[in-house]
Amino acid sequence: MFKQVALDYNFSDLEPFIDALTMETHYTKHHSAYTNNLNAALEKVPEFSNLGIEELLTKLDTVGDEAVSQTIRNNGGGFYNHNLYFTTMKPGGSKEPFGDLAAKITETFGGYDALKEKLTALSIQRFGSGWAWLSANKAGDLKVSSSPNQDNPVFETKGEWTPILGIDVWEHAYYLKYKNLRGDYVKAFYEVLNWDEIAKNYTAVKE
Ligand code: MN
Repeated sequence: MFKQVALDYNFSDLEPFIDALTMETHYTKHHSAYTNNLNAALEKVPEFSNLGIEELLTKLDTVGDEAVSQTIRNNGGGFYNHNLYFTTMKPGGSKEPFGDLAAKITETFGGYDALKEKLTALSIQRFGSGWAWLSANKAGDLKVSSSPNQDNPVFETKGEWTPILGIDVWEHAYYLKYKNLRGDYVKAFYEVLNWDEIAKNYTAVKE
């Protein structure tokens, strides 16, 4: 059974950048539904139910039932992506990258401002629903990308790349407060990022 990550902050704590009703709806309705639907789908393919979520997402082409595979792709992706999303947001914490991650960001993209520009552009250019990502590989390299729907780099690269930061650009992530202004939401999202957590993710991916 997969469980939503527990939040160590309140839904209202990200105000005024991310509003409390969006946070509550996002976590208790959307993320909860992805998690429940994933667990329900796994009951149909119990031989896959003991895998970790990342391994599961890399093995979807071996799930014989195509409808079940698609359900796990959508909802397993939704489960995984939102666990990442909610744990990298937090009031307080480091406001900017630091240490070896900051150095790698500068080496790869030219600096934090340049990285934000690239992620913002990917977020705005994503047509319809999806995500923008900062990902790492075992060598410690970084790259940015975007995915449709609830896909992610783990699924797309069969685990070669792991996201360490994800920007949810589904309308449910911002529409109550920002309406059609996705770029304004993305700009606000950077204000509630906790780079301590993103640095931990980077360290965990690197070998
Ligand atoms: Mn979402």
